[in-house]
Amino acid sequence: MPTVELERITKRFGATVALDNVSLYVREGEMLALLGPSGCGKTTLLRCVAGLTMPECGVLRIGGVDVTEQPARTRGVGMVFQNYALFPNLTAAENIAFPLEAKRWPRPAIASRVRELLALVGLEHTADRYPHQLSGGQQQRIALARALAAHPKVLLLDEPLSALDALTRTTLRDEIRRIQLAVGMTAIYVTHDQVEALAIADRVGIMDHGRLVELGAPAEVYTHPATLFGATFVGSRNTLDIIVGMDGWVRWGDAFAVPTTLAPGSRVLAVFTPESVELDAATGMPGTIGLISFRGASTRVHVVTADAEIGVDIPSHLAERFPRGRATTIRVPAERVQVFPLSEQDRVPEELDVTRRPGASAAAPPA
Ligand code: ATP
Repeated sequence: MPTVELERITKRFGATVALDNVSLYVREGEMLALLGPSGCGKTTLLRCVAGLTMPECGVLRIGGVDVTEQPARTRGVGMVFQNYALFPNLTAAENIAFPLEAKRWPRPAIASRVRELLALVGLEHTADRYPHQLSGGQQQRIALARALAAHPKVLLLDEPLSALDALTRTTLRDEIRRIQLAVGMTAIYVTHDQVEALAIADRVGIMDHGRLVELGAPAEVYTHPATLFGATFVGSRNTLDIIVGMDGWVRWGDAFAVPTTLAPGSRVLAVFTPESVELDAATGMPGTIGLISFRGASTRVHVVTADAEIGVDIPSHLAERFPRGRATTIRVPAERVQVFPLSEQDRVPEELDVTRRPGASAAAPPA
């Protein structure tokens, strides 16, 4: 399967810069998820690859061939959209056959390919049903089969699960991944759902205001995000607003101490995941258990300290040890704390911050 390469692609709509000098390389047979908030340019990027939107500058290659000037129909790209986009007057089988008929495949070849694809998406029994006789999940499977019908070089998926209920979303997400791996298809998957992106992809790219700000394997992007935007967009994080000590260390009481090269006296955000926090540590920051929320396998325990409220995720079977009102001491291993310089535009959106009362100040510099 061919690679997809974007080299310094820029696209503006009037004053809006939808894509700002984006370079990206999708490997052979790789599933790359593009994640980002609404309006960050994900769909525009996908449409540029498909040939539905023309970039202003930059080069686009599929399988090493420059396709920047090529029209959509000759690029060999299959697309799946959020809203299924099936033809309502055609049956499931006829929908899948449609692109093959347009390419004038011989009838027996079409019939055999349609059977093969219906089997691939597990919907042989729905061949003669019309879209309105299929569930949302089934319609999206048919849309996927149709996108794969003509053996595209690349599969592009634009929020394919957004219109579905939570359970169908998870099942179909895994199904899409299984099919993509089975076919060995190079694919780009656009979503604003971080769980979906991390679960389905070989690599995840995070976009912000038309720029690609993170790119890496899901575990890498989650554990060691390169930017504050990436850190706060993927996973829920505790963030503490701290002043760098005069010795160049970032401290939060006895809970953690992290060296930094940032200027002493400057403001930084110390960021760490809820599962990085230790409860009942021998030394650390004293606090009291506040809100407790059960989340299935894990439970989020909020620890209220003198100047912050820290979210801590623990396995649910341990949750009864930490009832509301109990005193505890929290500590965060230094290697789990990331420090980012703080400027006004780096403010963390409230809904992404699990620290309810940020505003911790730096510990006193060492004697
Ligand atoms: P969403 O998740 O909401 O679909 P997105 O990340 O896919 O968002 P895009 O649809 O790529 O974002 O849009 C990027 C920016 O370009 C937005 O500010 C959008 O308003 C603008 N934009 C996209 N298409 C057009 C268009 N045809 N005309 C004018 N502006 C557009």
